[in-house]
Amino acid sequence: MALELNEERFVSTMKEQAEIGGTDGGGLHRLALSDDDKRIRDWFLERMEEAGLDVRIDEFGNMFGRRDGEESGEPVMVGSHLDSQPYGGIYDGALGVISALEFVRELNDRDITTTRPIEIVNWTNEEGSRFQPAMQGSGVWAGAHDIDEEYAKTDTDGNTLESELERIGYKGQQPAEPAAEYDSYLELHVEQGPYLEENDKSVGIVTGIVGFKWGAITYRGEADHSGPTPMHHRSDALVPAADVITQIRRLPGTLGDRTVGTVGYVDVQPNSINIIPEEVTFTWGVRDPTSEVLEKAYDHVLAEAAAAAEREGVEWEHEDRMDADPVYFADRCVDAVEDATESLGYDAMRVFSGAGHDATHADSVCDTAMVFAVSENGKSHNEDEYTSWEDCYKSANTLASAAFELAQE
Ligand SMILES: [Zn+2]
Repeated sequence: MALELNEERFVSTMKEQAEIGGTDGGGLHRLALSDDDKRIRDWFLERMEEAGLDVRIDEFGNMFGRRDGEESGEPVMVGSHLDSQPYGGIYDGALGVISALEFVRELNDRDITTTRPIEIVNWTNEEGSRFQPAMQGSGVWAGAHDIDEEYAKTDTDGNTLESELERIGYKGQQPAEPAAEYDSYLELHVEQGPYLEENDKSVGIVTGIVGFKWGAITYRGEADHSGPTPMHHRSDALVPAADVITQIRRLPGTLGDRTVGTVGYVDVQPNSINIIPEEVTFTWGVRDPTSEVLEKAYDHVLAEAAAAAEREGVEWEHEDRMDADPVYFADRCVDAVEDATESLGYDAMRVFSGAGHDATHADSVCDTAMVFAVSENGKSHNEDEYTSWEDCYKSANTLASAAFELAQE
C-alpha cells in the first residue's frame, strides 16, 4: 500500500527540528533531558496537539500522541527518539519521529480514518550518552528496567535523571508501561552503516538487530623496574592483554560475515614508561546476528584469555558486562515494509541492524520492524552524518506506507 507524504512539508519540518540544539558544524547537540531536549519536546508536543492527537506523557518522559481509528482495537505505534549524541547528526532518530508526525499529518490532510488507532512516540534517552544505559525510555516502558533504578542514574555533574525530568517538566502522569495491547511498532532510523550505500539502495528493510556480548578481563602481574628485571623474571600484565586484543581483531574473520569484535577500553597500571605493567583491565565486545556465533566468540575469547595468562604466568579474571540476544522482527511487519518499498518502486534490500534501537525493547511488547535510510559513508553520531533529502523522503514514505497497511488490517 503506497502512501506518499507532503515532500515540501516533510523537508521543512526536518530542517525546523534540526534548529533546536543545532551546532555551527551543521549537526545536533541535543542531549537527553537538557534545555534543548525540553525545547524540542515542547515543539513536538505543540505539533502533536495541532495535529489533533491525544497526547500522553508517561512518568519516564516518553511522549505519545494517539489518533483514533474506526475501531478501538490494538494501535499501531510509530516513532523513534529526538535526543542526540554530543555533536551528533540531524537525522539519526529525529528522522523517525518527524516521519511519524508527517504520517499522521498526511492522514489528516486526506481525511483518512484508519481501522486501527495510530500512536506516534518520542522515547526518552535513546542515546545513553548523558545517562546510561541507551534505549532507556523504551526499556523502562517495556519492563526491561526498574524505573526507580533508572530514576537514580546520574550524569557527570551528579544530577539524577528523575530530577532532570522534573526540572524540564517531563515527568508525566501516565505509568511508564504499555497503555494498551499494541498491534505493532515501526521505527525509521538512519542506517549508521555502509551496507545500503555499498549496494546502491535507498531504503533498508530491517529484519532484526544483532545481539552482543560484552565483558571485561583483568590481568594481575608484578610491577618492577623495566631495566634490571630480566625477561624470564617478568609477569607483565600487558602482554597477555595484547595477545587477546589481537585475537579479538582476528576472531570475526573466522566466524560469521557480520561478526564484529572490539576492544574499546584499556586501563594499564601504573602506566609508566619505566615500570613493568602490574595490572591491566580491558573491555571486549562482540556482535553478531546469531546466538550460536556469539556463544562461540565468548568461549573463544575466554580460552584465549586463559592461555595468554598461563604463558605469562599472571593471575586473571573475567567479568560479564552485557549479554543481549539477537532480535528477529515479526514476518508480518517486515513484509509490510517490503510491500511498501515495492509499491513505491524504491531500491531496497533486507538488512540486519548492527546497532541497538528502541525497537529492541518494543519487540518484546508487540510485533515490530524497522526501516533504514541509507547513510552516506555509513557515518553517524557525528556532525558529518548525512542522508540526502530524497533518501530521507523515500524512507519516510516507506514507513508511512507500511504503518498504513498495518493500521488498515
Ligand atoms: Zn538513534
